[in-house]
Amino acid sequence: MKYSQLDYAACPEGHLTPIQPSTPQSVEAYRKAIETGTCPLFVACRECTRVYKVRQLHSLPPIYELEPFHEDAPLRRFQVSVPCDMEGCEDHAIVIAVRNADTSAEALIAELSKRRLDEMECPAGHAFPWPAWH
Ligand SMILES: [Zn+2]
Ligand SMILES: [Zn+2]
Repeated sequence: MKYSQLDYAACPEGHLTPIQPSTPQSVEAYRKAIETGTCPLFVACRECTRVYKVRQLHSLPPIYELEPFHEDAPLRRFQVSVPCDMEGCEDHAIVIAVRNADTSAEALIAELSKRRLDEMECPAGHAFPWPAWH
């Protein structure tokens, strides 16, 4: 299945990561979610070492040959939920990453644990210590 538009997040270096198939409402819905702080997404960029907070989605035609939203695609969109480290906080941060389809979620978490997580915070606004995993 091919989608005509995808919602992308842009890292501070300008690298784009596809987040989801685009719908007429999806970009606006995310803008509202950011304003109310309900479900910030974080992306682990595939092309550089940044893990950044998604502030805005961009609806664009698919720009990579390797788009992750069809069967047998060589890339897959991973979503990992990282528990907040703050005592008494039950919140999680959602991290999205597009990686080779043969990567496992465990391998992705191992990769993320080596990165700096400066921009990561849980929905309650607690910053993540580094590394965030023990
Ligand atoms: Zn990047
Ligand atoms: Zn928290």
